[in-house]
Amino acid sequence: MNNLEDLYREIVLDHYKSPRNRGELPVPPAHQVEGFNPLCGDEITEYIVLTNGTLSDIKVNGHGCSISQASSSLMSAAVKGKDLAEVHRQIDEFRQMMTNRESHLDDDEPSPIDLRSMGELAALQGVVKFPARIKCALLAWTTLEVGLSELSS
Ligand code: ZN
Repeated sequence: MNNLEDLYREIVLDHYKSPRNRGELPVPPAHQVEGFNPLCGDEITEYIVLTNGTLSDIKVNGHGCSISQASSSLMSAAVKGKDLAEVHRQIDEFRQMMTNRESHLDDDEPSPIDLRSMGELAALQGVVKFPARIKCALLAWTTLEVGLSELSS
């Protein structure tokens, strides 16, 4: 038994069962962006509001596997109220965590990412061991990235 893995599993389950920032926002002023992961059938719709360079509000709708839905909840909680530079930093850091296949929870080797700095997002690190599910975990983040680039273009 690995206590950390148990804790991470609990966090993911909690966000799946009680998703944060679930719902819709009026468009406009919100910007709507949709993401789809055909490998698993995950669908996600994000509503984002930018105010003076800050992601002032976000809501997420969608359906799909527990990883994709838990990740969208964790993502929304992590980025809401953050300025754009911080949001992009979190997107980069999350993608780096999900593509770092060498790192494991119980390795002695230090991970290139400080998981303690990632808060609850670190709970999804275990997904790295299941390459087929990585796209599920990344969907909410790549969708957010697309939405932000649409807003800035
Ligand atoms: Zn999925």
